[in-house]
Amino acid sequence: MSNNNKEPIFIKEQVSSRLDILWKVHKKCEICNTQKWVIADELINLMPYKGVNLVIGGASYPKIMAICTTCGNTKLFNAMVLDALHKKVDKTHEK
Ligand SMILES: [Zn+2]
Repeated sequence: MSNNNKEPIFIKEQVSSRLDILWKVHKKCEICNTQKWVIADELINLMPYKGVNLVIGGASYPKIMAICTTCGNTKLFNAMVLDALHKKVDKTHEK
C-alpha cells in the first residue's frame, strides 16, 4: 500500500492484538484443523458489484486478511469495524 500524508495507515501489530482478544471461538482452521494464522501486511479492498463495469470512486470496504499458514485458507475482517486505519502522524514538526 502506498502512503502519503493523507492516506490512513494500517498498523498490523494493533490488529493482531485486537483479533487475539476478539477471536474466541472456531480459531482452528476449518480446512486443515491447525491454528496458525498470520495477518497479511496489506489490506485488500472489496467494492460493490455494479454490473460488469468497475466503478471507480464508489464505496469501498477495506479488509484485513487472516491467512492460514498451513493451507492458505483466508478470512476477511472489516478494517473499519476493527478500527485498523489510523491517520499518519507527521513527526517532522516534533522537536
Ligand atoms: Zn488451514
